[in-house]
Order: sequence, then C-alpha cells, then structure tokens
Amino acid sequence: MEGINNRKVAVVGCGFVGSASAFALMESGLFSEMILIDANHDKAEGEALDISHGLPFAKPMQICAGDYKDISDAAIVVVTAGAGQKPGETRLDLVKKNAGIFKSVIPQIAEHNREGILLIVANPVDVLTYAAKKYSGFPENRVFGSGTTLDTARLKYLLGQHLEVDSRSVHAFIIGEHGDSEIAAWSSANVSGIPLNDFCEMRGHFNHEEAMERIAEGVKNSAYRIIEKKGATYYGIAMSVRRICEAIIRDEKTILPVSCIQHDNHGISDVALSMPAIIGKNGVEGMAPISLSENEEKKLQASAKALKDVIDDALEQDC
Ligand code: NAD
Repeated sequence: MEGINNRKVAVVGCGFVGSASAFALMESGLFSEMILIDANHDKAEGEALDISHGLPFAKPMQICAGDYKDISDAAIVVVTAGAGQKPGETRLDLVKKNAGIFKSVIPQIAEHNREGILLIVANPVDVLTYAAKKYSGFPENRVFGSGTTLDTARLKYLLGQHLEVDSRSVHAFIIGEHGDSEIAAWSSANVSGIPLNDFCEMRGHFNHEEAMERIAEGVKNSAYRIIEKKGATYYGIAMSVRRICEAIIRDEKTILPVSCIQHDNHGISDVALSMPAIIGKNGVEGMAPISLSENEEKKLQASAKALKDVIDDALEQDC
C-alpha cells in the first residue's frame, strides 16, 4: 500500500474499549506509531500519556493524541467511537445513536486516509460495518468489523474449561451476528482434528445436547453478564483487536470470523455478518467455506434477515 505506513495505527474513540485496545496494541510491539482520537481530546491525551508510561517495559513507539489529519498514513484505523450497551440493552438498541456518530466520524477518516484498513469495533458492529463501507467508499476488503472474533474466543475459552484442554487447541466458530442471533457452528467444531463429541467422550462428557446449549448460551450472554457486573466489556475485545491487527500487519492469511459484506455466501448477500475469512495485508482476502448442518443453516439465514431488517430500517435513507 503506497503512502501507508505499516508501522502506524490509529484508534478512534478512547473509552473503555479504545483505551484497552490501545494498551494491547502498545504491548504487541507491532507498531512504532499510534494516534489516539476522541471527541473528548483530553481523554485521548490522558490515555496517550498513561499508555506511554509503560513503554520502558515494552518496545519503543510514539503514542500521541491527535486529529484526523494525523492519520493519513495509518495502515489500520480502529473505530470504537460510540456508546456502549447499558445493563439490559441489546447491541441492536444502540443502532440509531452510533450510526449518527459513524455518519460524522467515517467521512472524516476517509477524507484524510484513502488507503488504510478500517477495523470497526463499535456496536452493533455488523450494521456499523455496513454503514462504514457506505460512508467511506472504501473497497469492501478494507472495511470489516471485529464481528464474532470475540464470541469465538469466548466459545473456545468455555470449551477449553469444559474439556480441560488448552483453548488454542479448540477449533470452533461463532458465526452470523455479533449479538443475540449468533450461531455456534457445532457441526464443524473439533479439538485438534478430533470431532468435538468424540473428544467430549474422551473427557467423560456424554450429555452433548445439554452441554452445547449451555455453552452457546454462556457465550451469547457473556457481554450481558459482564456489563451487569462491571458496566462494560473491554479486555477480551482488546485482545481480539490486537489479534486482527497482527494478522493484517504480518500478512498472516489467518482465518478469523470477522464481519464483512457477504456475496452469495450460503445464499446471503448485501449484509455484513461474520463468517470465517482469510485476513492478510489487504484486509479480507477471501472467505473460508464452512459447511453447516441444516439447523445451523436455518439459523444463519434468520441472523442475516434480522440484520438486514435493521440495516434497512436504520440506514436506508442514508446509504
Ligand atoms: P465508552 O463510552 O467508554 O467510549 C466511547 C468513546 O467514544 C468515548 O470516549 C467518547 O468520547 C467517544 N466518542 C463518541 N463520539 C465520538 C465521536 N464523534 N468522535 C470521536 N470519539 C467519539 O464506550 P466503550 O465501552 O469504549 O464502547 C465503545 C463501543 O464498543 C460501544 O459501541 C460498545 O458496544 C462496543 N463494543 C464492541 C465490542 C465488540 O466485540 N465489537 C465489545 C465491547 C464493546
């Protein structure tokens, strides 16, 4: 990418999620420059100072509060600006408020940075990814959302606990909406190539239906539980942002379930949702086909429809 500095990242929105992501990115050693932007400039300055004071224990880099003109050469712009869920609120409840914020933020990014990758994190992330594509005019491969990368991490963590195995050896995806209609793709789940049910039985678990339902519900309700207890979720998503940025900057061709606009994927088009995708220096470089059971397929169609209805309702006049 010409005119782009592969060692530079920007974070727009420095609340719980933006500041935790900035901290994780500082620790990653992936970048030598990071610009923090927030409507509250003092907040961005405070976070830049606080995070910079950890640099003697990490790797050298410049971390500054800035403005959109400072991000013209950033390889990745992480967008977390937007209100978070309050206790009892769903992600889709945030749509009007945060679509309004995106309508002002995304064109300002696109005015100054034409070649970077937009990584959308604010919720509802699928709807805002769709909006960001429209408001930026960027090619689709360079606008995608963290999607169900976090939900998938939660699934791997819970399965790892259940089966007493390293969660990195668990291969399973949450797909669809990052939200209430998400789907655990159980039919393709495995532990290092061993079909999930076989591994469960090796570990003395035989009640598969009950366990799958309990774990999938646990994943889906994670954010609600955390928000009820501490007001916001941010460490898990910060690590997800770090992982996605790593896959881009190192051109890893890693498969991650990010949210991107679909084209006849299981018959789904013109809606952003999460399916396993190949992530490298050009952003989303392709989709990794996943086979689904009939029931998973049905749930995926329902998830796409739920999202499409919200997009049509909230964004139609604008996009
Ligand atoms: P927060 O309220 O702590 O922070 C939001 C920040 O955005 C604030 O600092 C605010 O000043 C800033 N902001 C608002 N409007 C802005 C604008 N126009 N320009 C620049 N900055 C602006 O909220 P949070 O807890 O950090 O959550 C941020 C978003 O991330 C929420 O939408 C939340 O739901 C979402 N989130 C997503 C995931 C995920 O998996 N995708 C996980 C957790 C949270």
